[in-house]
Amino acid sequence: MTSFSLRQLKLRPGEEHRDELEVELPAFEFGGQRYVPVPEKVPTKFVVTRANTGTVFSIAFRARLHGPCYRCLDDAVLEVPIRVREYQASSPDDEELTTPYVTDDVLDVSAWARDAVALALPDKILCRPDCAGLCPECGKNLNDEPHTHDEEHADPRWAVLESLKESL
Ligand SMILES: [Zn+2]
Ligand SMILES: [Zn+2]
Repeated sequence: MTSFSLRQLKLRPGEEHRDELEVELPAFEFGGQRYVPVPEKVPTKFVVTRANTGTVFSIAFRARLHGPCYRCLDDAVLEVPIRVREYQASSPDDEELTTPYVTDDVLDVSAWARDAVALALPDKILCRPDCAGLCPECGKNLNDEPHTHDEEHADPRWAVLESLKESL
């Protein structure tokens, strides 16, 4: 888990603190499949900016997830660019002015990064946008072997007739 203690920061309004963090990401369960971040620790730009009434946090990184293609089950790699912000009021009267990722002056960067990636995932993770998927008849990968089935020949009785014809 990557976290950042805010106690060490002594920023005055208008000042900012920039950092490079290594943020650990978990594997993601998505559509019943597992997607693993490679690398697990993602280099992340981290900026804290002190405003008059609170603090703005921002993180930016590029997650790369490896897992099966939704259509053909081949390996798919998904790049997820993330750039998100959170705000924490200095003396919040309102829950909306606090970020859920700060507890006792510690920012849970891992939890924030994980949620940001989960929210940025597309509906379907594909090996390529035009993936042809698997053949519903024989299960072969249609990207490797584009084909269609002749309906008549799918009937085993025709196969027998075919072999008879060939032997004549
Ligand atoms: Zn595919
Ligand atoms: Zn087929």
